[in-house]
Amino acid sequence: MKLTKKLNHPSTESTGALSGVLGSAIDRRTFLRRTGLALGAGAIATTLPPAMMKRSQATAAERKFVKGPVEIKRSVCTHCSVGCGVIAEVQNGVWTGQEPDFDSPLNLGSHCAKGASVREHGHGERRLKYPMKLVNGKWQRLSWDQAIDEIGDRLMGIREQHGPDAVMWVGSAKFSNEGAYLYRKMAAMWGTNNVDHQARICHSTTVAGVANTWGYGAMTNSYNDMHNSKCIFFIGSNAAEAHPVSMQHVLRGKENGAKVIVADPRFTRTAAHADQFLRLRPGTDVPLIYGLLWHIFENGWEDKEYISQRVAFMDEIRAEAAKWTPDVVENVTGIPGDEVKAAAKTMAEHRPGTIVWCMGGTQHTVGNNNTRIYSVLQLALGNVGKSGGGANIFRGHDNVQGATDFGILADTLPGYYGLAEGSWKHWARVWDIDFEWIKSRFDQASYADGNKMTPAMNLKGITVSRWFDGANESDENVSQKTALKALMMWGHAPNSQVRGAEQKKALENLDLVVVVDPYPTHTAVLPDRTKEGMYLLPACTQFETYGSRTASNRSLQWGEKIIDPLFESKPDHAIMYMLAKKLGFDQQMFKNIKVNGEEPLIEDITREFNRGMWTIGYTGQSPERLKLHLENKHTFNVTTLKAEGGPCDGDTYGLPWPCWGTPEFKHPGTHVLYDTSKHVKEGGLNFRARFGVEHEGVNLLAEDSYSKGAEIQDGYPEFTADMLKQLGWWDDLTEEEKVAAEGKNWKTDLSGGIQRVAIEHGCAPFGNAKARCKVWNFPDPIPVHREPLYANRRDLVEQYPTYPDRKAFWRLPARYASIQAQDFSKDFPLIHTSGRLVEYEGGGEETRSNPWLAELQQDMFVEIHPGDANDRGIKDGQWVWLDGPEGGRIKVKAMVTERVGRGVVFTPFHFGGWFEGKDLLSKYPEGTHPYVRGSACNDAFTYGYDSVTNMQETKASLCQIRPA
Ligand code: SF4
Repeated sequence: MKLTKKLNHPSTESTGALSGVLGSAIDRRTFLRRTGLALGAGAIATTLPPAMMKRSQATAAERKFVKGPVEIKRSVCTHCSVGCGVIAEVQNGVWTGQEPDFDSPLNLGSHCAKGASVREHGHGERRLKYPMKLVNGKWQRLSWDQAIDEIGDRLMGIREQHGPDAVMWVGSAKFSNEGAYLYRKMAAMWGTNNVDHQARICHSTTVAGVANTWGYGAMTNSYNDMHNSKCIFFIGSNAAEAHPVSMQHVLRGKENGAKVIVADPRFTRTAAHADQFLRLRPGTDVPLIYGLLWHIFENGWEDKEYISQRVAFMDEIRAEAAKWTPDVVENVTGIPGDEVKAAAKTMAEHRPGTIVWCMGGTQHTVGNNNTRIYSVLQLALGNVGKSGGGANIFRGHDNVQGATDFGILADTLPGYYGLAEGSWKHWARVWDIDFEWIKSRFDQASYADGNKMTPAMNLKGITVSRWFDGANESDENVSQKTALKALMMWGHAPNSQVRGAEQKKALENLDLVVVVDPYPTHTAVLPDRTKEGMYLLPACTQFETYGSRTASNRSLQWGEKIIDPLFESKPDHAIMYMLAKKLGFDQQMFKNIKVNGEEPLIEDITREFNRGMWTIGYTGQSPERLKLHLENKHTFNVTTLKAEGGPCDGDTYGLPWPCWGTPEFKHPGTHVLYDTSKHVKEGGLNFRARFGVEHEGVNLLAEDSYSKGAEIQDGYPEFTADMLKQLGWWDDLTEEEKVAAEGKNWKTDLSGGIQRVAIEHGCAPFGNAKARCKVWNFPDPIPVHREPLYANRRDLVEQYPTYPDRKAFWRLPARYASIQAQDFSKDFPLIHTSGRLVEYEGGGEETRSNPWLAELQQDMFVEIHPGDANDRGIKDGQWVWLDGPEGGRIKVKAMVTERVGRGVVFTPFHFGGWFEGKDLLSKYPEGTHPYVRGSACNDAFTYGYDSVTNMQETKASLCQIRPA
């Protein structure tokens, strides 16, 4: 389908505005006022690699009136998790030039279309410019003081009447690490676990599945390490569009001889680079992987020594795999048997191989089963803990890894410390406040938590995937005092979530809705709200402040402030301070953080989390060390990520976590997780002892396997003060460390002494165990196949049924079997799946407001196979209705293509600003509407949530399509 080049190209709107200002030197403020428009990046293309090398500069016209010396500032692209460095040229406070960071080992001087156009942030015509509130259906301007005052009063009133859990705090993967940490701390001090962010709907099933298999829930290796892979298996990942610059590392791996296999329902741009493409029916990842394992076990291709030393319960996997014979796999997945066999053979013959997955794998009702079976495949092949191997799980937003690590999640505190008294006491000590005070902030009652009762303070909260159910359900159906009454939507797009009509209803009925964002977002326009109590607060982007962010490979990168916040926007941490002050807990929240005026000092926030994040080693990355890496990017090897000489000599770029001990301990960071070929002091590790030492008579500790230089040459449990004493290593602690370490363990010793001594003896602080293939505390201990709730293969439902309905699951009822019991496949015969486009990011508000990107993709569309289109009398480029089985409907353009197979349709998920075929343009505050608006695909997506994490199902629903 050819998209139309708009006659009124957005960038041409600006020419008139410029004519009056040329020729005179002006300052930044005048520049912004006079142009007020988007002038920015030069030519941008969507393809690799020439477009990735473009330099984006102010036009000659702009440069004429912006004078002064050029200052260079370095930051990080604010779009995806690859973490590409951005070099900005700033003159007189105006961002006048931009180029990709050629010194960065992560992007090597490349940018995709999104990164190449970030200078648009220096102008931001469509940004939210000042605080606003909705009065009688119209947006009114407010001062910051008035806005914070009114919002604070409303929050306090709701708290008084309904308790702290009546407020849902949705945070953001766009926060810096410091912002993410502060946000979780703020929710804790408000007194609720109803706090969550985008990771819930992108990789929560990864975190749960992977952490429960081998210890940590993150990418094990790195983009760069894929240079060393012999086989690269993508499943549910379209990196060429979702993580474009990562492809240069993939292609380097390919040049080095790696075989590339892509499994996807769609022939994606990534598939175009593959040696083999496997087109699977959406929702059949588990059968496909068992199909691969069937051949691996049948031919003895598994790594037997590795499994016996480092893996528990592989025999139970072997038993399940035996059921997945080639004909059964072909019937369920749709992939011919010989193709599965060929893929298994390639993987067996090309080791180490890596696996890459993204939301195609995670966003399912069985998402946790998918992520665990992917992990098991890598364990069977002996690929984990090796350079070139591992699980390269590409995260989404630029700081979704950091925001996850800092616990903007309804079930953890920063550093994955679980919701338990010990964790709260740990963080109370770090925060230097009384545990009893924090406890007093929570509802003191207990509520249903599955089959048991749990105090509100330790009860998992409502997740962002279902905040609107938390608002729409009756009080008696919600496991807390009342349903939600208020929503803080801080850097989150509701169009990235399913069931738009139910979100609309909730947004209309809540007593308070607050959007904090650089843009008004789809939240501002979705509801037809008649009552007061809806506010928009302008937050600035990360280019207008500074601090650290964590790329997908766990490397932290410090970014400098490029320009001052645009218009009246403020940085997240400053807004949090104002709010905390109004709500009366600023003294506790900022006890050890210096506040300049109303802006907390970023470095103090970094240092505070350095003092508490022992579990995952966010303790060694001091601001000073991160700034040193920023200054010396060019000294790092682009494959090993190790500094070769210079002031960072021996460090891994960005000190990827775990970076053990205190900053003074100078741990180099851990490039490849669980790699026993290195000393722990140099980034080596083994699997984590997290699940006890024995289960059902099976030894869970490693056998005859340990990291290089370990003095305990076998498996061992996690380190405690008592263990140091038993080993005779206690006196290796200093006297000061002994005082701090007494009665503590490697996670709670604030001195870092236990970690230091364990590592000095060559041991991993978290013990040395086997990875486990069986997660006995999950609904499916061994991953099994279950058909989607909206199943198109009714003949398979009886054999592979979904779960029973549940009560009190993340505080809400959850439906499974009662939906699957109905047959929707006759009226809705097409499988509906979704994904990303290279031009846009997330809910897309920011990128659709960028004229340079908006030009590239102007219409929301659905990809439909020619056969399915012809059966419906639909032509390429025609407007169609896509109807979902729950009544959601979207109006989109048809893209007739063989990228999708017969019976499957694909929609991108970045569009918003329409509802049920209507453009909501008139509902945006004046001048803030994105250039490109369109139907949110998720309005047609349906109910369905992962059985462990509440991840939404957006990859295997049903729909029908008809001409509009
Ligand atoms: Fe790099 Fe991702 Fe930004 Fe593109 S969007 S420039 S790949 S960080």
